[in-house]
Amino acid sequence: MKITTKVNLFITVSLLVSLLIVNTIVFFLFMKTTVNMEAHLVFKNANEMLKKYHISESLTLDKNLLNSYMPSHSFIRIVGPTSTTINQVTNDKVLVQKISPTFSTEKNFELRPFQEHQNLVVHVPIHQNHKVIGTLEISERLSGLESRKDVILSIMGTVTVVSVLLSFLAGRWLSAIIMKPIVSMISTMEDIEQIGTLKKIGIQTETKDEVYKMAATFNRMVSKLKENSDKQRQFISDASHELKTPVTVISSFITILRRHGTQDETIAKEAIEAIYLETNRMKNLTKTLLSLAELEGSEPVDIKSVDLVSLSTALVTQFMQVYDRPIILHENSHSIFIKGDELKLKQVLIIFLDNAIKYSTDVIEVFLESDQHKGILRIKDYGIGIPEEEQSHVFERFYRVDKARKRDSGGSGLGLAIAKNIVNLHKGEIDIQSKEHAGTEIKVTFPLTN
Ligand code: ADP
Repeated sequence: MKITTKVNLFITVSLLVSLLIVNTIVFFLFMKTTVNMEAHLVFKNANEMLKKYHISESLTLDKNLLNSYMPSHSFIRIVGPTSTTINQVTNDKVLVQKISPTFSTEKNFELRPFQEHQNLVVHVPIHQNHKVIGTLEISERLSGLESRKDVILSIMGTVTVVSVLLSFLAGRWLSAIIMKPIVSMISTMEDIEQIGTLKKIGIQTETKDEVYKMAATFNRMVSKLKENSDKQRQFISDASHELKTPVTVISSFITILRRHGTQDETIAKEAIEAIYLETNRMKNLTKTLLSLAELEGSEPVDIKSVDLVSLSTALVTQFMQVYDRPIILHENSHSIFIKGDELKLKQVLIIFLDNAIKYSTDVIEVFLESDQHKGILRIKDYGIGIPEEEQSHVFERFYRVDKARKRDSGGSGLGLAIAKNIVNLHKGEIDIQSKEHAGTEIKVTFPLTN
């Protein structure tokens, strides 16, 4: 069964049941109140009669005098202590026969059905010298009650039918509105399943209800998946492009070698050297790619307390010796301990120092600072800098600011992407500030060990 039909049926049946319960309660209350009111009226008349016509003294009834108290189909009678009629006046002979006299010492009333009508019978005790000597019994047909009962039943019936019908129609309309985006979502998902391309759902309503939120969440998920798949495609295309260049160089030198043989020593030497360089480049590139793939989504494995100050001091000394470049280390404390994988953190520092060396010729400065919660590392150079519009892209894989120049410098455009991944794995933050022809500063913040 469809959800819409289920919802509709449920709403309609619940409404019908509630209306039936409410109608029954209202009907019985109405009947009770009406009979009570009628009885109250007859009691009032009976008391008046007893007083006005001195019935308690004479125990007689005068028909002419009582006419004003007698509606059609009624009787007034005086009943003795043995439940026998002492005196009676009536305008309905059959009624007076059917309702037998009842002696009662209490004031009460009852309903007696007769000839498809309800008849109200009221008993009022007649006192003489503090003793009950008889009962004034008054009965009348409640013909007004019958007609009012019919009216109220037909009103309730009509209201019930109209309400159920309206609720059924409203339910259908409401479920159609609710189901519309869900149906559209299902068809979009079926399309995605069949065609294999990610698609978004067209959201028409802006009511921010649950269905809207579900569709919006689905669309956000599609965007994320699309973004990931685009990134993956881009990565594969970039990686193959990077690998294609050395393969092309190697293959062209091998063609030269095959054509000219090894007789021409100069050509042979040049070819072997180029093949050697390109093979090395490929080897490094695949190694870097593998380490990047390893880093993405993984957790740092070898976690221990690492002192950023001693790690940086050792590396700075090493870089100064190897590259013969001035690197100044500024630290505001003797040790800054963070939790991390020492080898990976070392890799981050190497990437930053390597870039600073590659893209500047002047002095390089390394700052180490800490506050209560964070350890901060800044590497500053006064080199070529990065144009502002390029700065947000330098952490992307294979992104190079100037592609031709970086090939000469041996860069692959993967260093900063790797560094960012490592920093993220250590729950740190990375930020770059740069000005073209003025220099670059990379700032990394790590949470301190407790
Ligand atoms: P690469 O291996 O090419 O250096 P990176 O990912 O380390 O790759 O850097 C990406 C790009 O960002 C580089 O190609 C370079 O253009 C730019 N870059 C990175 N660091 C610096 C820096 N200190 N000064 C100027 N440009 C930089």
